[in-house]
Amino acid sequence: MSKLKGNFISGLFLFLLTTVVCLLSAFQFISMHKKEAIYPSKWLSTKKMLSSYFPELKDTPGDTEVFLYQGQEEGGNILILGGTHPNEPAGFVTAVLLIENIRVTRGKLIIIPRANNSGFTHNDPQEGNPQRFFLETSGGRREFRYGSRLTNPVHQWPDPALYINPAGQKISGIETRNLNRCFPGKNKGYLTEKIAFGIMELIKKEKIDLGIDLHEAAPEYPVINAIVFHDNSAELAALSQMELQLEGFEFRLEASPPNLRGLSHREWGDEAHIQAVLLETANASHGRLKGKPSPSLIVDGKDKNYTKAARLGLLFVPYGEEGIPLKQRVARHLASISALLASLNELDPKKRIEIDNVPSPLQVQENGIGFFLTPLKRS
Ligand SMILES: [Zn+2]
Repeated sequence: MSKLKGNFISGLFLFLLTTVVCLLSAFQFISMHKKEAIYPSKWLSTKKMLSSYFPELKDTPGDTEVFLYQGQEEGGNILILGGTHPNEPAGFVTAVLLIENIRVTRGKLIIIPRANNSGFTHNDPQEGNPQRFFLETSGGRREFRYGSRLTNPVHQWPDPALYINPAGQKISGIETRNLNRCFPGKNKGYLTEKIAFGIMELIKKEKIDLGIDLHEAAPEYPVINAIVFHDNSAELAALSQMELQLEGFEFRLEASPPNLRGLSHREWGDEAHIQAVLLETANASHGRLKGKPSPSLIVDGKDKNYTKAARLGLLFVPYGEEGIPLKQRVARHLASISALLASLNELDPKKRIEIDNVPSPLQVQENGIGFFLTPLKRS
């Protein structure tokens, strides 16, 4: 065989190999655009899109589903966000559990499970994170995407070197794609700023009284197992912390620093004058000390490195051999939401909200999340 022919064959082989790798990656990448199903309880009043509050979002990857539960009697109006950061699954899964189970008899509850819808369509490069995790239900395994903290660069690009966010703070350019730095949003801005603007419009139009933004953070992050509260919600947060303590859940109270701008609860309080809190649980798959990322690390939350780090006193939460499973993190979010609503009722009875069928935090811990999820429906 001549040298020229040999070069041609190896060149062709490399070309075909590259094409196959590119195609496989492209299919994997595109598959993350497929939304996981959410099956609302029969008591759902209406499902809308965020674009119905801010039409500029229509037909963009930032548009997202809004689930409304309206009680027969007037009362408090509450907004719950999951998926502000799509790599913090406890917030998203808590929102899904509520949507699939609850009935509101008094007041109004609005839930946005995928606040940054675009962030669910990719995951962070070089982190080696799985694209999905799985939860068993009585009718089969349901899958959920494990996304990124940031808006997909395919939907918003390029990032500037520095970013002056809509609240006027100068921060790193990459934060233009972090929904939790883009409040109160802009009607003519980056996609992520438009999402934040849409949420602000919803807050005003639906006359929201209290906003709750569900998050997770690495176990080595100091603000963890915490209720982070806007200055106007100090009493509400303190009362909720006491309620939680009585139920056996330890939470720390963190006052939101007034000079850290662009965060959901900070701008909801400052701009829309509603009460606002952000909740954090500890997620090992989010942290820097973790071993190999995997779907089971997300769900079971067991990681030897974190157990060792806890023994060395490097963490801000207890972290034993049993880890911190997703069911425990979701239970904490559910318990905090119930405590916040009970405290709101106590402080301002006119804003009373009554919700039936909320999955009990203790039962979620005992029976698992899948016990409360609708069994898989094949379409
Ligand atoms: Zn977060």
